[in-house]
Amino acid sequence: MSIISKDIQKAISILENEELVAIPTETVYGLAGNIFSEKAIKSIFETKQRPLFNPLIVHVSGIDQLDKIVAEIPAKAKLLAEKFWPGSMTLVLKKNPNIPDLITAGKSTVAVRIPNHKTTLELLSKLPFPLAAPSANPFNNISPTKPEHVARYFKENLKMVLDGGTCKNGIESTIIGFNNNEPVIYRLGALALEEIENVVGPVSVMNEKEKNPDAPGMLQKHYAPKTKTILTTNVKGEIEKYKTSKIGVLSFSTSFKDNTIDAEIRLSRSNNLQEAASNLYDSMHQLDHLNLDVIIVEKLPEFGLGKSMNDRLKRAAF
Ligand code: AMP
Ligand code: MG
Repeated sequence: MSIISKDIQKAISILENEELVAIPTETVYGLAGNIFSEKAIKSIFETKQRPLFNPLIVHVSGIDQLDKIVAEIPAKAKLLAEKFWPGSMTLVLKKNPNIPDLITAGKSTVAVRIPNHKTTLELLSKLPFPLAAPSANPFNNISPTKPEHVARYFKENLKMVLDGGTCKNGIESTIIGFNNNEPVIYRLGALALEEIENVVGPVSVMNEKEKNPDAPGMLQKHYAPKTKTILTTNVKGEIEKYKTSKIGVLSFSTSFKDNTIDAEIRLSRSNNLQEAASNLYDSMHQLDHLNLDVIIVEKLPEFGLGKSMNDRLKRAAF
């Protein structure tokens, strides 16, 4: 029997029993458990094979829940929360003392988000506890954007995937921390940098060297297909180089199809970055299952969601 189900009541019983349910969000599917259950949280780390030093994001149903999770809310955090929640933005704030160390990897800060997905908002509002939910993929693999991706990854180790369809935004949330009350982007993501700057003015993006190597979304290799992956602005040149191999091409909107290509996926025929983001991981899953020798990925335009996607693709191709 499939573990994919729309039964919210069943998800509630499993979570109340300190076990895990994969939940839909508008970014990617999450592997969720009760933040106050040591058993559930340990099980998240074991199931994903995620190192314990990597902190988890806490998901809540509304802004009224925030006081229970965090100790302080800088003015610009409040502005961002009011503007973008529910939505694809995670805020890293000083934690409330009741938040377990397992969630924050012993840090004094906690990451929190209100996801913008009807099913999961309903689930969260019916549960007496918030959910910790990292992406529902084994550590370092491609994130799941469809219930089938999760089921394929965790068949035997998971009781249920709550079916919420395909993730609308398709890449992980944008993570924002604060330095002397000023926002700093820790991870680019499904909320474009420009949208954030429209609300709080110019913000700095942590560069590779400043980034904490403990942070999984920030590892140099991550989100990676099993197949060798190349990120390039010169797709034709790479096709020429690999013409004797089995080639897959993942392009933004142009078709490069010729006799030397075995498979091609175009992310958005109408040059739409939002559509491209929502198709990105599913396309990578598809190409990764074709036994190709190499996947040649066309670099996206370096603005808006294109910038966030390039960040993921650089790590996939590392
Ligand atoms: P995932 O849920 O797998 O997409 O990963 C969660 C992301 O949130 C990781 O990149 C974490 O490093 C980041 N994160 C969670 N908590 C914190 C924190 N307290 N400080 C900095 N980053 C955090
Ligand atoms: Mg992840």
